[in-house]
Amino acid sequence: MLTLLTFCLIYYFIAGIVIVLGYHRCLTHKAFKMRKWFEYVVVVLGLPAGTPIQWVGNHRFHHANPDLSVDPHSPIIHGFWYAHNGWYINSKIKLLCFLYALAGPIRFLIDAWNRPRTNQEHNHLAKDISADPFYRYISSPSVYAVLMLLHSIIPFGFAYALWEINGFITLWINLIIIFNLGDSINSLGHEKINEHSSTVNRNVLAFFTFGDGYHKDHHQNPGVARVGFQSKQIDLGWRILLILKFLNLVYDINTLEEQ
Ligand SMILES: [Zn+2]
Ligand SMILES: [Zn+2]
Repeated sequence: MLTLLTFCLIYYFIAGIVIVLGYHRCLTHKAFKMRKWFEYVVVVLGLPAGTPIQWVGNHRFHHANPDLSVDPHSPIIHGFWYAHNGWYINSKIKLLCFLYALAGPIRFLIDAWNRPRTNQEHNHLAKDISADPFYRYISSPSVYAVLMLLHSIIPFGFAYALWEINGFITLWINLIIIFNLGDSINSLGHEKINEHSSTVNRNVLAFFTFGDGYHKDHHQNPGVARVGFQSKQIDLGWRILLILKFLNLVYDINTLEEQ
């Protein structure tokens, strides 16, 4: 029998892995390839993070300009809250960012309008993504809005049907955790160290973000599929990638040795 906790853990796992492996390491950095049908499924599941075109463009621009004034989300330049989530809603008002951080499914609805319309300045860096008709289609405002509506209705309807208000509230809390873990990579992955260095590895964050919290190592080797490659680093995303490789769902994996 499916328990509410198991349901939330499965949701957390899928929501995390589609962004870490799908949007980030595959689409943005080309660290490996996915079977096309599988890539499409992964990206549709990752849509709450934004449209794939906008996500990839912004992230590539961030890698090219980390902690410069043009960086879309630098905690050093713009402050913690703007880098955390304010850059999505174009606000440095801490209370507004804080409320947005707690918005859970309401954030889905805000983003359903916002994401295909904002943060589009670096789309030219994602021409490989926008060249794909399917990605152009799901990134259009109307289609994205419908898909985001489904992203809210299906899991929340399911949780409510099985566990009533407890299911609704627990999934909401789960969503807050997931969004803020992802946003923390931008806000906690950079801090003022010296003029040559601003990225940091966060072990605890890396554990809960499937390895992407090793942000310093990632900036040094962005095209490598295994972000946590040092001994004692736990990169769960890499472990899952090996399982996906075994299942023949991914291939052409870039490892550090091949760099
Ligand atoms: Zn960074
Ligand atoms: Zn990256």
